[in-house]
Amino acid sequence: MKKVIVVGSGFSSLSAACYLAKAGLEVEIFEKNQTVGGRAGQMVKDGFTFDMGPSWYWMPDIFEKFFADFGKKPSDYYQLDKLNPAYKIFFKDDSITIGDCMEQICKEFDRIESGSSEHLRKFIKKAQDNYDIAINKVVLKPGLSPLELVTKDTVTRLDQFFKTISQEVRKRFQNPKLISTLEFPVLFLGAKPSKTPSFYSFMNFADFGLGTWHPKGGMYEIIKAMEKLAMELGVVINTNCPVDKILVLDGEICGINTQGKNVVSDYVVSGADYHHSETLLDKKYRQYSESYWDSRVYAPSSLLFYIGFDKKLKNVEHHNLFFDTDFEQHAIEIYDHPQWPSNPLFYANFPSITDASMAPEGCETGFFLVPIAPGLEDTDALRAQYFDIVMDRFSALTDQEVKKSIIFKRSFCVRDFVEQYNSYKGNAYGMANTLSQTAFLRPNLRSKKVKNLFFAGQLTVPGPGVPPSLISGKLTAELLTKNLAL
Ligand SMILES: Cc1cc2nc3c(=O)[nH]c(=O)nc-3n(C[C@H](O)[C@H](O)[C@H](O)COP(=O)(O)OP(=O)(O)OC[C@H]3O[C@@H](n4cnc5c(N)ncnc54)[C@H](O)[C@@H]3O)c2cc1C
Repeated sequence: MKKVIVVGSGFSSLSAACYLAKAGLEVEIFEKNQTVGGRAGQMVKDGFTFDMGPSWYWMPDIFEKFFADFGKKPSDYYQLDKLNPAYKIFFKDDSITIGDCMEQICKEFDRIESGSSEHLRKFIKKAQDNYDIAINKVVLKPGLSPLELVTKDTVTRLDQFFKTISQEVRKRFQNPKLISTLEFPVLFLGAKPSKTPSFYSFMNFADFGLGTWHPKGGMYEIIKAMEKLAMELGVVINTNCPVDKILVLDGEICGINTQGKNVVSDYVVSGADYHHSETLLDKKYRQYSESYWDSRVYAPSSLLFYIGFDKKLKNVEHHNLFFDTDFEQHAIEIYDHPQWPSNPLFYANFPSITDASMAPEGCETGFFLVPIAPGLEDTDALRAQYFDIVMDRFSALTDQEVKKSIIFKRSFCVRDFVEQYNSYKGNAYGMANTLSQTAFLRPNLRSKKVKNLFFAGQLTVPGPGVPPSLISGKLTAELLTKNLAL
């Protein structure tokens, strides 16, 4: 039986491992950290359960398809609830609440801009068509050739690759609050809406059409499910085992070295950050130079605060976006002139509002996220300064005192992303999905220099986010197993 070593245990690695084991290979995972899950880790402290990374469960169809490939359903492993409201957006003088169906969302749009629901329905219909093409066709291609993108569906929509989502939204809506609401979903792709092709409006269908879901117990339940599935399929999982070197002999994989020990294998799939994975190879076997990596556009890093409150909070929902400051200025400070934001937008998540299992009785579990440019200086003083900014704005906008109610607090930022995940420049969400960093223009799933070496994850195809990471693992496993048949 041929053996594959999988580096890392994030969503992409676990996905690849499951597909490879199903294909009949012997699969062994080596994860540097104490627990599996990578950026989707979990912290449990004094009765508070924190998802360390992802908190938005979007595109439930992709999770269903993943488990269906193994004859399973998400409900075999976790309970999924649709959130209503899906989320709330705070502006300076008002807030918008996004319900769990188009009827409710249309009502809210009309409240803000009379007659806008008619435009919204047309916009979402187009977004749904794009979703069908993107998710059911384009995204399932391994990015080996530009021809993969040339289909009847994409050719007839060519204009949507050269117009941006910002232009498309502004053509239909005037109110700045509605514009921000409709530009928000593409932020998950990691680039500015003014740099993201309008074809990516499929994210708006994911948002308004498919809804926002919550696995009871938190996002880590998905990781636990995939870990269980992998083990059922015979995958061996080693934690606390950093891979120190990928071993190559005459241009062909022969295994890995971990903590002074060589482990032999026929194949290696690395789901660790792509840049880091290449540093595990001798220089002559790396495909991309340091200047290549430096010239890419990365999705943001984040300053995160995990907070336990000794009381229930008011005026907030499970997911909350604080768009009360200038979005454009913050985007400039992330992408154009990287620096700590002068007046940051932020996101706050309180899963215990809908899921009592995530906090002690009468308490609230809070997660605050400020998107920042990757590679910024990260000091304790800066974290403290931004903590005060975020808490003060949060208190004022939600009309409650919170600082005195904090009984647990931990911050996480650029240097933690580097230390914990070997992340390039401390990026949180990998490489942005811009037109020039899409599909075959992203780092390859298969090494061009080392036979039997493959990659997966948010820096390769198809891109950042949990659903794309699941797909990435599947694509790399398919490439590898095709290779096996040759
Ligand atoms: C704060 C935050 C919020 C997010 N929010 C969302 C969200 O709401 N919805 C969404 O869909 N997505 C979200 N994302 C993105 C999503 O979490 C990621 O795209 C996805 O988890 C990436 O998975 P991955 O397998 O590519 O990488 P990772 O999860 O980073 O996995 C890589 C693994 O490799 C391990 N590793 C690194 N080096 C080595 C080595 N030398 N040896 C062994 N192991 C190694 C790491 O420890 C890690 O476990 C968020 C991410 C962050 C950070």
